[in-house]
Amino acid sequence: MVSAVSAVRKTRALRLPAWGEPPALADVDVPEPTGSEVLVRVEAAGICHSDLHVLDAAPGALPYRPPFTLGHEIAGHVVAGSGFEAGERVAVHGPWGCGTCRRCAVGEDNYCDRRAELGWAGAGLGRDGGMAGHVLVPHARHLVPIGDLDATQAAPLTDAGLTPYHAVARLRLGDDASVVVVGVGGLGHVAIQILRAVTKARVFAVDVREDALSLAGRSGAHRTLLARADTETVLRRETGGADAVLDFVGSDPTLRLSAGVLRPGGDLVLVGSGGGKLTITKPGPLPQGASVSLPFWGGSRELAEVIALARTGGIRVETELFPLADAGEAFDRLRAGRVLGRAVLLPG
Ligand code: NAD
Ligand code: ZN
Ligand code: ZN
Repeated sequence: MVSAVSAVRKTRALRLPAWGEPPALADVDVPEPTGSEVLVRVEAAGICHSDLHVLDAAPGALPYRPPFTLGHEIAGHVVAGSGFEAGERVAVHGPWGCGTCRRCAVGEDNYCDRRAELGWAGAGLGRDGGMAGHVLVPHARHLVPIGDLDATQAAPLTDAGLTPYHAVARLRLGDDASVVVVGVGGLGHVAIQILRAVTKARVFAVDVREDALSLAGRSGAHRTLLARADTETVLRRETGGADAVLDFVGSDPTLRLSAGVLRPGGDLVLVGSGGGKLTITKPGPLPQGASVSLPFWGGSRELAEVIALARTGGIRVETELFPLADAGEAFDRLRAGRVLGRAVLLPG
């Protein structure tokens, strides 16, 4: 047990006060860790497109309630608490579950069996998160050591890295596989790098932005395509039918495209929460033998693998850095589709 060493009594935090209200900076008390808790000084916190979905959510649409501090992509160093030395640099595994079910016991809190009873999805999603000077983490099992990895890399890796890593790990891709990545934002550009690092697949990337396609190319995509009326036809011709499509948008048009380019027996992996609908009927828009999956985030063991991959140079997140005080501007840029890669907040 490390004793509380923080002399700071207040910490600045970006809070969601109520559904439908804009997030606001507030000075809040630095929490004191008790029991299994660990207090982490935040060095960096990524902004995910899911944060926009949270801000836009109608009351009752999500299974948790404000007020809480936003931020579910967090890296920093331990200040005080159980299980870690003060000063140890860590990434936070954000999907905090019940801690006792069979899933949580193996670090798969993202699929906690008691999620519906908990009233939160994790850090910054019903519980106070990391867009703040400090975050109180419920247990040391949610922390992954990062050594000397830059916190501005480690923070986005906890979701923009972990979620595509988990999604790719569930696929069985042969050496001649073709994979289509739809949406080359925070998650998509890391997904391309992961596909190149851990599979032999030929990677096709689709986006509506030219600069995102340039990033896709720099991330290792073999072929990049602007989303247009003929994209499905071109992709079908060039892939011969994709073995897997990772849809990081999830809107009506991208789901249509994703189903349309899949080969028989292919995997449609829906990651994006764009609210689009896909009808599942036999026969229907999906080819015979297709599988549809809805992966959510990833496990803590997978996060350790993602951090290890980044530390050996296998993945690098493209980042745009903002002081926490400029969070409003960063959110506006993300909403306008003007962030390349991941926007990351620095509490300072
Ligand atoms: P982002 O805003 O960084 O990236 C989205 C990208 O999609 C942008 O480059 C945008 O130009 C592109 N795009 C938009 N419309 C498109 C279209 N019609 N065709 C092709 N490309 C299009 O978002 P992000 O942070 O990478 O998150 C992506 C999605 O994944 C969001 O919906 C987010 O909520 C969701 N998400 C899901 C999980 C999960 O566990 N399932 C985890 C994190 C994020
Ligand atoms: Zn997220
Ligand atoms: Zn659980």
